[in-house]
Amino acid sequence: MNFDLKTIRQQFPALHQQIHGKDLVYLDNSATTLKPQVVIDSISEYYSTINSNIHRGIHYLSQRSTECYEQARETVARFINAKESCEVIFTRGTTDSINLVAFSFGETFLKEGDEIIVSAMEHHSNLVPWQMVCERKKCKLKFIPFDNDGVLDLEIYKSLFTERTRLVSVTAVSNTLGTVNPIKEIIDIAHSFNVVTMIDGAQAIQHMAIDVQALDCDFLAFSGHKIYGPTGIGVLWGKEALLDKMQPYQGGGDMIETVTLEKTTYNKLPFKFEAGTSNYVDAHGLAVAIDFVSSIGIETIACHEHELMLHATKGLKTIENLTIYGNAPIKSGALSFLFNGVHPADVGMILDKQGIAVRTGTHCTEPIMQHYGIPGTVRASFGLYTTIDEIDVLVNTLIRIGRMF
Ligand code: PMP
Repeated sequence: MNFDLKTIRQQFPALHQQIHGKDLVYLDNSATTLKPQVVIDSISEYYSTINSNIHRGIHYLSQRSTECYEQARETVARFINAKESCEVIFTRGTTDSINLVAFSFGETFLKEGDEIIVSAMEHHSNLVPWQMVCERKKCKLKFIPFDNDGVLDLEIYKSLFTERTRLVSVTAVSNTLGTVNPIKEIIDIAHSFNVVTMIDGAQAIQHMAIDVQALDCDFLAFSGHKIYGPTGIGVLWGKEALLDKMQPYQGGGDMIETVTLEKTTYNKLPFKFEAGTSNYVDAHGLAVAIDFVSSIGIETIACHEHELMLHATKGLKTIENLTIYGNAPIKSGALSFLFNGVHPADVGMILDKQGIAVRTGTHCTEPIMQHYGIPGTVRASFGLYTTIDEIDVLVNTLIRIGRMF
């Protein structure tokens, strides 16, 4: 196993700092991940050398920059096993990718009375865009419920389909409950009703292998910053046949084929969906991050993080008056909890004073909080560089906090 945690941690400069006089314990990886030196350097090097706008220039630097951008697309395509690299569209992130599909799929395929299914555990980014398109197109949004353990009810899911169902959009992993959803089964069920599927991969892409051809989903969205890459860059992957038929999302440079004052014809894939100057520097940074992750091995990372999850869960379960939210049989990344009767922000503030970075609040999943009738949770979330010792620091600090309350 090519996994030397000490060497890996040395490559993340932000890990090696003190916060409030204590060694940083960074457990906010579901919100964003820290960056390895190679990614940081790749961005600085890009701006110091080949930076030049893509696709428009005949001069050397513009061509090098274009090549680099298109190589980044190939890297992403290989990583998710896309059939064609033209199916990979660079966006600003998961939210942007989902909005793109909601708008363009909506404009092209949705009619009044059509139906869309999402789950009740979605991040707002995979809920609000569908609410918006449903309002605009007078469509109906339906929800797959989850039980108290945070497991989706697939029997109810099957019963939601009608001849008006057009699309199902579900997260692969819940950013709040940590639930790993059975997306292959969810996709297969949708396809048995001839319904298109979209997977929100924001919390999956950094934790497990995602193979879009094996899954046979129709769309996948993810963000660069969750997989050790830069912010402001993300991916929408979609099946070529579907993307080809869809209306463009935004108008402007790069998405055009020809323009007259009266009319525009659109460029081919993927450029049809990449209006304006793309974030080519961060696309390169994302490719470097993906290469970094691949050099360790996503399966190796998944194994390590599984150990972390088991260890943390076991530790938290020993603490009195602490409730874990999300007890699905398979979990990844995020562990949510509360001290009974204590506001999550109070716990988060005390942890921060000890150098422990966790997130508190609703985690952009207010319907989950409504389900449990709680104001929010404390969420500890792991990355490939998280250590068992760090989990022990969290658990021991929580034991002390528990005594205070
Ligand atoms: N979906 C899920 C499951 C997420 O966890 C997040 C980020 N917290 C998003 C969507 C949105 O990602 P971004 O803010 O990078 O667009």
